[in-house]
Amino acid sequence: MTETAKTQCPYCGVGCGLEVFPPAVPGKNITRASDGTPVWQARGDRTHPSSLGQVCVKGATIGESLHKDRLKYPMMRESLDQPFKRVTWDVALDAIAERIKTVVATQGQDAIAMYGSGQLQTEDYYVAQKLLKGCLGTNNFDTNSRLCMSSAVSAYAESFGADGPPCNYDDLDITDCAFLIGTNTAECHPIIFNRLRKNHKKNSQTRLIVVDPRATDTSKHADLHLAIKPGTDIDLMHGMAYLLLKWSEQSPQYIAQHFIDKFTNGFEEYRDILKDYTPEKVAKTCGITVAEIKQAARYWGKAKNVLSMWSMGINQSSEGTAKARTLINLHLLTGQIGRPGAGPFSLTGQPNAMGGREAGGLAHLLPGHRFVTNAKDRSEVEDFWKLPAGQISAQPGMSIWETIKAMELGDIGLFWVVATNPAVSLPDLDRVKKALRNCPFVIHQECYSPTEMAEFSHLLLPAAQWSEKTGVMTNSERRLTLCPKFRTPPGEARADWVIFAEVGQRLGFVREFAFNDAAEVYGEFVRLTKGQPCDQTGLSHEYLMTNGPTQWPAPKGNLPTVGVSNRLYTDLKFHTDDRRAKFIACHSKGLAEPADVNFPYVLTTGRLYGHWHTMSRTARIEKIMKMHPNPFLEIHPRDAKTLSLQEGDWVEVRSRRGCVRLPVVVTKGIVPGTVFMPIHWGALWAENAEANILTHPIACPVSKQPELKACAVSLVPVSGTASPTKELSWTSGLLEKLFQLTPV
Ligand code: SF4
Repeated sequence: MTETAKTQCPYCGVGCGLEVFPPAVPGKNITRASDGTPVWQARGDRTHPSSLGQVCVKGATIGESLHKDRLKYPMMRESLDQPFKRVTWDVALDAIAERIKTVVATQGQDAIAMYGSGQLQTEDYYVAQKLLKGCLGTNNFDTNSRLCMSSAVSAYAESFGADGPPCNYDDLDITDCAFLIGTNTAECHPIIFNRLRKNHKKNSQTRLIVVDPRATDTSKHADLHLAIKPGTDIDLMHGMAYLLLKWSEQSPQYIAQHFIDKFTNGFEEYRDILKDYTPEKVAKTCGITVAEIKQAARYWGKAKNVLSMWSMGINQSSEGTAKARTLINLHLLTGQIGRPGAGPFSLTGQPNAMGGREAGGLAHLLPGHRFVTNAKDRSEVEDFWKLPAGQISAQPGMSIWETIKAMELGDIGLFWVVATNPAVSLPDLDRVKKALRNCPFVIHQECYSPTEMAEFSHLLLPAAQWSEKTGVMTNSERRLTLCPKFRTPPGEARADWVIFAEVGQRLGFVREFAFNDAAEVYGEFVRLTKGQPCDQTGLSHEYLMTNGPTQWPAPKGNLPTVGVSNRLYTDLKFHTDDRRAKFIACHSKGLAEPADVNFPYVLTTGRLYGHWHTMSRTARIEKIMKMHPNPFLEIHPRDAKTLSLQEGDWVEVRSRRGCVRLPVVVTKGIVPGTVFMPIHWGALWAENAEANILTHPIACPVSKQPELKACAVSLVPVSGTASPTKELSWTSGLLEKLFQLTPV
């Protein structure tokens, strides 16, 4: 294919627009990777309203990753100690269909589980839903959004009656107070931060508050950096609310009493809880000063428009939903919602995690922001799919951690992993690996090979990735972009939705999966959104191709004006039964596993600017590997001195579950008593450097999102001089070298 294409970046939830160019452009030399392979070039799309031509290093180098180490053919083996053998698609798909029938007959449909990804396009999600939740009658379709956004989803649903961030990126240019909590936006959502930073630099009255136990590229630009102890976010936010309420006795403008009375419920209970959060007490709990809390409350209380943003630092917590609700409570207290520059804004991790939420991409959801526990929702979807009443189970499916526990008990007969790498990304990783080995049939549907997950798989299915299939993705501001196919998939790779549909048809659901192309799939999905908060009935592949990226809601006959960004709740009518937003307050519980005598430090984990998640793509891009070659542990100079550690010395980091070995970076950028390591390195790319060997699976009881952000560790200095990073070839041959795969 030789045409330039416009699309959305396939990495993070910012969802920047990209223009991609073929390797051979008339009049120019062919662009090649360092191994000589011609590669597509990417640059920011100036016409994309979300990013206005900006792009970070990941988006700019995406072309280099597309051809490297691809899984090209279905590969199968009887047991994990055998090498894989190439098989035909017919053999692979028949094997899946037969295995599903056997598992359903012997263990029941709930012994089947699929674990998907925010990398999937909406069409992929939708067809997978239909297969699992509709045709097979099990809701065991969870995704890696469980590790990423499920606390935000729960909080929006509880506080506003429906999922969906109310704000848009234009608010970044308008706000006069940005409150960033639990997000290193400059590194993890860089283009969002660029827009905010431009406003901050240009307008001297715009305030930037950053709440983070680490000094980061985000906090260095802040007017106020609150380096709180991990796990004290609710205390801080309640402390700010306490002050705003108190100050409002003299200066009523500090809270929005009219808004509270007319548009919310639950204020009295909230006010009662706040009584316990005096500034002195909160300062002590959070490890900051009373003056800092007062300054934060003053900035918030005096601002015209407050925009708060959060990400994993809030969501990945054993009280993640409560944290996100507490932030929403602050907005309700001050009426900061439903107008330009104001509102609570969760920053989505993956490029189409939002699309997944719309299509039912968690084990308790159905397409169109419906819930499996709601009889009306189930009935609407069953009718639409022309399935018998009662076909969709009323029982929420297993979250990924519940699936792992079921595997330990032998209760999962078939586990199907799609476009994600749980052999690196799940907490308590040694336990996860053991559980995976206990599953009799594991399918890994993936673009790259090897990945860590292949070691635990019986069947590898080659998936066409972004650029090789057409589909829709929704970014953090609810904007949908059509991502067209512009390259040919390698070998026999197929689009994910095509693979699901093939299996569905083999199971006898011929009519249900008779889609001719992705446009038909999307057309069916949008009809299911009719009348729902995420209504997309006015959209189609053709519309998005012609009119460009568009936000939902986008109902037929009432489409948003092209070029104008929309916000939710501008009429202050919410999606709850009485149309009022809810204050839902609770006390802070703190970390599930705080530091103690045996494990005296808190480990917090996070991402780096260049890498993406478990490095399946970015470890294959030399520029990014040069930028971030090694894993490391950040430690405060005071703690380093106590342990007689100097920069570059090695330390063994031990938790109750396992240990890793890392070189230390000594920095005042982290609070004493807390250490930090990046999440990215799995067993394939480094020795003994997997962050999740250490983390625990205790999760938020509402969202079931594990507390990946914090666990208690001890530190033991060790000798070590070599780089932890493994030396791997950049070129082909990895498959054979690492997994002894047998070619045909
Ligand atoms: S900010 Fe995110 S979406 Fe934008 S170019 Fe970077 S990785 Fe891609």
